[in-house]
Amino acid sequence: MIRPVIAGNWKMNKTIAEALDVASRLRDDLRAPLDREVIIAPPFTALRSVAEVLRGSPLRLAAQNLHEAEKGAYTGEVSGEMVRDAGCQYVIVGHSERRTLFGEGNDTVNRKLRAALAVGLKPIFCLGETLQEREEERTKAVIERQLKEGLNNLTVGDIGRSLFAYEPVWAIGTGKTASPQQAEEVHRFIREWVAGRYGRESAEGLAILYGGSITPANIAELMLQPDINGALVGGASLDPASFLQIVRYK
Ligand code: PEP
Repeated sequence: MIRPVIAGNWKMNKTIAEALDVASRLRDDLRAPLDREVIIAPPFTALRSVAEVLRGSPLRLAAQNLHEAEKGAYTGEVSGEMVRDAGCQYVIVGHSERRTLFGEGNDTVNRKLRAALAVGLKPIFCLGETLQEREEERTKAVIERQLKEGLNNLTVGDIGRSLFAYEPVWAIGTGKTASPQQAEEVHRFIREWVAGRYGRESAEGLAILYGGSITPANIAELMLQPDINGALVGGASLDPASFLQIVRYK
């Protein structure tokens, strides 16, 4: 049985003061030991301060990105070691906004996954198809390619330290959620692909999150699906009240 994972991606939102306000509200509300892993991904600037506020709390911290190099002349970039040093246990890799707005292809995603794993960060590996790809019935082909190229040279051990997030691009920030059946079909496909490549045990232990317009109203139905093990939440994670409702889905 995989422990459910609820992760909030704050994207480019919140000053340090705003981030501390939300993080301390979440911390105060989620004190008792949780039967689910709760992760928040504030912007880089707030990571260190939020890490201080979360000290001793079951909440975990993620960065939204990292650079694949260890260090050097990469103006404006942040390495995996820096992210870990700021207090993160997780890092989001391959988010569709990184892929579409910043030109990150599967090769870059692969290098970033390896960089994250090399410094002991757990990557949240995002994959998903665009609307056009879905309409052309290419969803599985696109996902398969993202898996094959994104996971190039990753070992069984690496998969054991990773989370995956299926995020159909057409459902991100659009208010259009994949139906539980649509999401389950792709989650199942991903798990079977992982089973074929890394073995049944790896596949059965892998947490595959769904992301795309999740709200307190639709989380429970999605989480009923056997291959959906958690949620990556964008917009609805910015407000602590709605994020807490999602975290406490029944
Ligand atoms: C996301 O950005 O990962 C996401 C799922 O966003 P939203 O929940 O706003 O669709």
